[in-house]
Amino acid sequence: QQVAGRKPKWLKIKLHNSQGYAEVASLVKQHDLHTICSSGRCPNISECWSRGTATFMICGDVCTRSCRFCATKSGKPMPLDRDEPQKIARSIKVMGLRYAVITSVDRDDLPDGGAGQWVDTIEAIKELNHDVKVEVLIPDFDGRKELLDLIINSRADVIGHNLETVEELTDSVRSRAKYTTSLEVLRYISSCGKEAKSGIMVGLGETPEQVVKTLEDLRSAGVGRATIGQYLQPTSKQLPVVEYVTPEQFAFYKQKAVELGFTHIESAPLVRSSYMAEYSEGRAKCV
Ligand code: SF4
Ligand code: SF4
Repeated sequence: QQVAGRKPKWLKIKLHNSQGYAEVASLVKQHDLHTICSSGRCPNISECWSRGTATFMICGDVCTRSCRFCATKSGKPMPLDRDEPQKIARSIKVMGLRYAVITSVDRDDLPDGGAGQWVDTIEAIKELNHDVKVEVLIPDFDGRKELLDLIINSRADVIGHNLETVEELTDSVRSRAKYTTSLEVLRYISSCGKEAKSGIMVGLGETPEQVVKTLEDLRSAGVGRATIGQYLQPTSKQLPVVEYVTPEQFAFYKQKAVELGFTHIESAPLVRSSYMAEYSEGRAKCV
């Protein structure tokens, strides 16, 4: 592993400036939508938007939590936009997506944590887009099963919740969230018969043994899909990168995950939880 300094060559990003990119950017602006691609300053934005894919972020763009790796604005959110579900559904139709990924900010200020808006969005997408598969990347809802049930009983096809990091670093990296609560959320999702997915970032100072232990914990919680990617500091306000994990080390994690029985595993420096999500279905549609 390489200690953080200059970015290594495997993190160089190819810029794709295409018609597809311009169309997604204009759609997002026109409908006043939010994406984690731009809020999170994702390094893949040029590639994904050029392919006509994006990850929409619902429940506004201000989060009630303030994780130390995340560039999403935090503070007091605005009231929910009741038209947001329809706007997202229409945008997915215009983009011609057959695989849509949705995430949200955390809304600890709302009695239902935003679960109602989640369900309305999933149902609006499914109503307007008959063939679409919907992957949702949800908050922990503080582990409240009655709120998780609302999402589990919706028509979401894959339900993801990110552990983000190893147990030992959780308190210093995430805000309010607990490693054990997140694992319980994932265990509950898979015990209800839904496809559960999770993701972690590496390069925050964790050891390889801790990463492997995290993969074991995910498998024992019934999680079948996982992503592992390099943490990159979005702005100088977030945690610094401790190390740049080599592609060989990512390949080692992938091999371990396969041995542990994960059915879909993406492990590479620029992988994000929604990166190439549609390809894990083998039925991608890019516009
Ligand atoms: Fe957006 Fe995900 Fe692609 Fe990043 S990897 S640009 S968050 S769709
Ligand atoms: Fe970012 Fe944390 Fe809020 Fe998620 S919960 S949007 S990672 S601050």
